[in-house]
Amino acid sequence: MDWNKLADALIPDENVKDLEEYEKAYPERALEKGAQVTRLAPSPTGFMHIGNLFVALANERIAHQSDGVFYLRIEDTDEKRKVEGAVEVIHTSLKYFGVKFDEGADLCGNYGPYYQRQRAEIYHAYAKDLIRRGLAYPCFCTEQDLEQTRETQTEQKLLPGYYGEFAKCRTLTEEQIYENLRAGKPYVIRLRSQGDVNVKHTFRDEVKGEITVTENNQDVVILKSDGIPTYHFAHAIDDHFMRTTLVIRGEEWLSSLPIHIELFKALNFRLPKYGHNCSIQKIDGETRRKLSKRKDPEASLSYYREQGYHPDAVRTYMMTLLNSNFEEWLLKFPDKPLEEFKFSIGKMGKSGALFDIVKLNDIAKTQMSKLSQEETYDFLKTWTEEFGTQTQKKYFDDKEYLMNVLALCMGVNGKKRRKDFICAKQAMDTIAYFFEEAFSPEYAYRFENGTVKKVLQEFKEVYNYADDSSAWFNKVKQIAENNGFTSDMKAYKANPDAYAGNVADIAEMLRIAVTGLSNTPDLWTIMQILGEQKTLDRLEKAISAL
Ligand code: GLU
Repeated sequence: MDWNKLADALIPDENVKDLEEYEKAYPERALEKGAQVTRLAPSPTGFMHIGNLFVALANERIAHQSDGVFYLRIEDTDEKRKVEGAVEVIHTSLKYFGVKFDEGADLCGNYGPYYQRQRAEIYHAYAKDLIRRGLAYPCFCTEQDLEQTRETQTEQKLLPGYYGEFAKCRTLTEEQIYENLRAGKPYVIRLRSQGDVNVKHTFRDEVKGEITVTENNQDVVILKSDGIPTYHFAHAIDDHFMRTTLVIRGEEWLSSLPIHIELFKALNFRLPKYGHNCSIQKIDGETRRKLSKRKDPEASLSYYREQGYHPDAVRTYMMTLLNSNFEEWLLKFPDKPLEEFKFSIGKMGKSGALFDIVKLNDIAKTQMSKLSQEETYDFLKTWTEEFGTQTQKKYFDDKEYLMNVLALCMGVNGKKRRKDFICAKQAMDTIAYFFEEAFSPEYAYRFENGTVKKVLQEFKEVYNYADDSSAWFNKVKQIAENNGFTSDMKAYKANPDAYAGNVADIAEMLRIAVTGLSNTPDLWTIMQILGEQKTLDRLEKAISAL
């Protein structure tokens, strides 16, 4: 067979250059020894899964910690999944979480283009080379042919796929090939696998440790009928020419590893190191399953921005899932920047990471409690401008007022900072009762209306804005005594049945009347922030609602 002639006939691309040209155009990177070149290689589907951030953070940390390079490659070979603006989404969503690329799609870099669709020439050059060397061949099988093969394999309980005797086009003669070409039959290019499934190798996965890999024997498609490469083929060529040294990717790719090992070998490329990261799972009833794009809103990266989680909180939480010794470090150095933690691939989980929103919220509360008042104000403002309601936007009209609200809810003047805020959305809901536009109390009192009404009326009469907190509290105590409640907590505990209740119950009635809630920070301060008139108005409103 004249392989050269066949290569030209099958891939009539006039742009292809000699292979050495590509090696010269994309030379080894001049980096220090030990520096790692890593990448994120998402498909531009417009959807960013939390798993993307998981993998991105690991790759980013490893590259930057070793003074290497972290780049973005867009794997857009599947036209059907492509979405306009998706690259923008990748950049903005990752940037929000502090993941920045050194080079790649829509950025600078000497190893591009970083969009696979713009790299057709180089894939064609290498596919041609494989054909010339007898390591690839055209396959004219139709969907029906392949379906028939699948049925036979299922019947005979054989492994599915295009291999061995089932690889019909492997043995086509030169004549048959040209005849098919003349007939205009569509074809794909397949790898002529040299592997044997009975042979197993030990492979060192950077995350999973030593694993056993069975040789590939599948004649996988490398170029589709439109000349576009498959992921397998494109990634091998790209990782070689972008000089990737380490590929951390999701473990769903582990089953393709034998194909990749064989492709690198066939292409005469040095295999990069691979580490297969465990998937993020959640407990769903009795089972543990992968976070699903369809079922779980928290699977989407945009969820965390929409909820207004502070980026550092999400990053910190991701790190607890990524490195088993991270939490210990965090306890020791709660205020150090995350970059100072020494990330190690060896400490990455070997099996599924369990996503726990309660823990994320806990971390988020601590994270928010580290922000200054001004930082909190800015953070909430930025979030509200993008995701808040019209009413919430109005909260920012009076900065001084909002700053007072924040000071109270954050506990900036107390001994210890409060941890009331989890994320911006929840924080904005938490402070809503301070704003008349949002104030719609439901008044869930635990005492009879008559009692409540009397208490509120009495308080309204004696309330004086100028009272300091102890004078204020003495008045509340007096109201308690007037109404058969006690302000003596000891006496109350000893004999609760002797009283209608205690002073805390009175305070709760006032709290519900003024805020609509039974649980808030210090009520005297709330009244100070609201101001005299608003406090009186709210008391009046509560009284008339009874
Ligand atoms: N394009 C693949 C994906 O969407 C990338 C896999 C890899 O990192 O090699 O997940």
